[in-house]
Amino acid sequence: MSAAAPLAAAVAAPPVAVTGSPMPSAAPSVPAAAALPAPGVPSGPLLPGPDSATGRPVTLGVMGGGQLGRMFVHAAQRMGYDTAVLEPDLLSPAGLVSHQHFELPYDDADGLTELAQACDAITTEFENVPASALQRLAAERPVAPGAAAVALAQNRIAEKAHFTACAAQSGVACAPYAVIESAAQLAAVPADLLPGILKTARMGYDGKGQLRVSDAAALQAAWAELKQVPCVLEQHLPLRAEYSVVLARGWDGASVCFWPQRNVHVGGILAVTHAYQSNMPAAQAERAQAATQFIATELAYVGVLCVEFFVVDDGSPLGRLVVNEMAPRPHNSGHYTIDACDVSQFDLQVCALAGLPLPAPRQHSPAIMLNLLGDLWFDAAGQSRTPNWAAVLAMPGVHLHLYGKPEARLGRKMGHLTITGASVAAVQAVAAQVVARLGLPGLDD
Ligand code: ADP
Ligand code: MG
Repeated sequence: MSAAAPLAAAVAAPPVAVTGSPMPSAAPSVPAAAALPAPGVPSGPLLPGPDSATGRPVTLGVMGGGQLGRMFVHAAQRMGYDTAVLEPDLLSPAGLVSHQHFELPYDDADGLTELAQACDAITTEFENVPASALQRLAAERPVAPGAAAVALAQNRIAEKAHFTACAAQSGVACAPYAVIESAAQLAAVPADLLPGILKTARMGYDGKGQLRVSDAAALQAAWAELKQVPCVLEQHLPLRAEYSVVLARGWDGASVCFWPQRNVHVGGILAVTHAYQSNMPAAQAERAQAATQFIATELAYVGVLCVEFFVVDDGSPLGRLVVNEMAPRPHNSGHYTIDACDVSQFDLQVCALAGLPLPAPRQHSPAIMLNLLGDLWFDAAGQSRTPNWAAVLAMPGVHLHLYGKPEARLGRKMGHLTITGASVAAVQAVAAQVVARLGLPGLDD
């Protein structure tokens, strides 16, 4: 297709703008989260530039210094905010680009005090930041998302209880599951949950903390291997596809979200995101968006939230939509929004935190995102190398994002490529060439 061709109507994912009622109370079905207090709400929008009373630049803070924090910092700085990061790593992606970097642990009392004093509002870039630290910050500054929502996302047991409570209205349930916290619960697992996947309730990511089990004996052995920590056992579902929805919700309850993106994982790690409207039937996409909005609203969520979905093969033409898990922050699968949308997930994170209006995002180009793992920095003999970026940057619509991590390691997320173009076919063709030239996993592995 020529560069002058108009954008195909199918490429632009229609935005969803929803104006919500004033902030509802947190879902009562989740005791661990509901026990934490609600965060403070800013008295008005935090506009970028010098504060009129103090003259100090209005500063947005982030807990954590990873790549998501770096892209938040970039978005905030472009809009004229100063930024501050609390992150113990001296050479962190976000710390390296932020105005201020407090090189202290996330639960360090002095670090939290310094961050609160430096900032006008604070967000988080990874879900395992201690909820108690967010609670402490919230006593002094607006914090979004709040400790309660982050605590819920840190624990699959609480998260699934919330999804189950929401399913009554959203109609989108999670995979059949059982909580395993004791030997008695292990023994009582219904046979129809097997074969299944045993997942630790806490600290799981990129497929870590998960074991596939085929029968009761394997389940027992797997729980022992996971040191008998609290777990959930999920029925192993026949997946047709995986999707995620990124939503932003403001202090006033208004929310906007992107069209669902289709995700391909390799070895438990996101490898490819397909972002164009034809990737999902419209009725199903709207159900996923509505379920995401319901999940956020019932949590009184403020900030950017990503909810992952499965489409399960149940013999029907569309398949059954199932909710998997959520991340209380921007998501790897939403990185394409930087290059393919007029407002990115990080722009929306800034707007939500600062109490600014949330513009409905518009996707102007179809896109494919390819994750760049540290593996790419090693040749077949295990010698380190620099990937041949010149070979792929020569192609149209290829956008390189590297996160500034000083050392490549196998499986480490070092960056990503977003490929944009005038049509889905053009994007797929370039992406296939990029995959071949760099030796990345295929687009649909
Ligand atoms: P993580 O926190 O590691 O992303 P997930 O719960 O998303 O954990 O699981 C990782 C991957 O494992 C999913 O993206 C999916 O491919 C697969 N998976 C997880 N749960 C199930 C399930 N119940 N049935 C089939 N596949 C699953
Ligand atoms: Mg996941």
